[in-house]
Amino acid sequence: MGIFYKIKSALARFMYGRNGVDQLGLSMVWGCLLLLLVSSLVTRRQAVIGTVLYWISIVFWAGALFRIFSKNLYKRREENSRWLNRIWRFKSRFQGARERHADKTHKYYTCKACKTICRVPVGKGKIVITCPKCGAQIHAKT
Ligand SMILES: [Zn+2]
Repeated sequence: MGIFYKIKSALARFMYGRNGVDQLGLSMVWGCLLLLLVSSLVTRRQAVIGTVLYWISIVFWAGALFRIFSKNLYKRREENSRWLNRIWRFKSRFQGARERHADKTHKYYTCKACKTICRVPVGKGKIVITCPKCGAQIHAKT
């Protein structure tokens, strides 16, 4: 048994039952590094901003470490899934906007009542769209 094997198994024993690195933890580490980079780039005249960014990055780092070594798996997983949900929603909104922009045969209207996106064909003149979700009416020109 080499020394590396001993270290490796000791680390495995230490990390057993702990959260480890997940997507939210990784994002926090990246956020920390980004803030550190930005804080090192600010000029001397804006030293206060640099210091504040530095301390925020330290908080991010501490948070990431706390998450990695936390034994409250249930809560950490819940936080992580909430984070992933938010990222997914952001990504899908961006993706959807790009697809709608590329679609030249339809026009898209957002229902003011429930924010549902309604798709209607182009070239029908003035129309009244009834929202399929909540039944509100949208007066539109296609
Ligand atoms: Zn609606």
